[in-house]
Amino acid sequence: MIQAADINKVATRLANTKFLLVLTGAGISHESGIPTFRGNDGLWQNYRAEELATPWAFERDPVTVWQWYDWRRGIIGKAKPNPGHHAIKELEDIFENFLLITQNVDGLHGRTGNAKMVEIHGNLWRVRCVREGKTSMLMEVPLPSIPPRCECGEILRPDVVWFGESLPTQALEQAFRALEMCDTLMVVGTSGVVYPVASFPETVKNNGGFVIEINTEATPISNIADVSLFGKSGDILPEVVRALRTQ
Ligand code: NAD
Repeated sequence: MIQAADINKVATRLANTKFLLVLTGAGISHESGIPTFRGNDGLWQNYRAEELATPWAFERDPVTVWQWYDWRRGIIGKAKPNPGHHAIKELEDIFENFLLITQNVDGLHGRTGNAKMVEIHGNLWRVRCVREGKTSMLMEVPLPSIPPRCECGEILRPDVVWFGESLPTQALEQAFRALEMCDTLMVVGTSGVVYPVASFPETVKNNGGFVIEINTEATPISNIADVSLFGKSGDILPEVVRALRTQ
């Protein structure tokens, strides 16, 4: 049950916000039918995501890792953005100073139309040559076998950030600049355990900013958030936008 008083508190804060930073995780896409990593539906052939989304797993068994990504792309390809994604696009239209940082690799925010966006963990529709680092869209490369190969003969990997890898420098710099500038951070559908993104709410709090959390359950972020709205992001976000528009 969403608390109307909390929705109004969030709307009032947003009405007085100069720079809104939104951070999303797998939870926002859950209502589009895409499994989160830590939910019950996150298993594939009894593998946990943490066992497959690593450079070591790819080195050891690239075929299995590619098959897992093909399975995920099969689900994501059929998925559509949900009302939570659309509400975040509306927020981008409302705020002149806005940035969306997403940890999701499904590309759904881009399909919704968000443009002021950093895909900080990459995009699983893109591939990268493990030797040259050159990236291309998956549909542009021939797929005669798994794993597919670059023209140079080396293996192509998904252009995503795996556990144990560093984030792309440019994306990280853009995120840090936004963390300095924003006065409100809205965190949606993330378990808050994957670093460095998990530290973003604390950075904003230390800079004197306001943190809003939207999640179906309490997370480590709930301890420092100014307001936590518990429920599905596809229900809550449209209500927040509606309340903001009537401020
Ligand atoms: P996570 O799986 O660790 O956590 C998901 C969070 O979403 C949980 O806290 C859960 O309570 C919450 N949640 C679930 N359904 C929700 C809903 N309807 N509304 C609001 N909240 C909901 O995901 P994470 O924190 O994003 O971190 C894991 C990593 O997994 C990320 O790096 C991400 O790249 C990757 N991942 C991405 C996708 C995707 O692209 N859709 C899917 C799975 C994992």
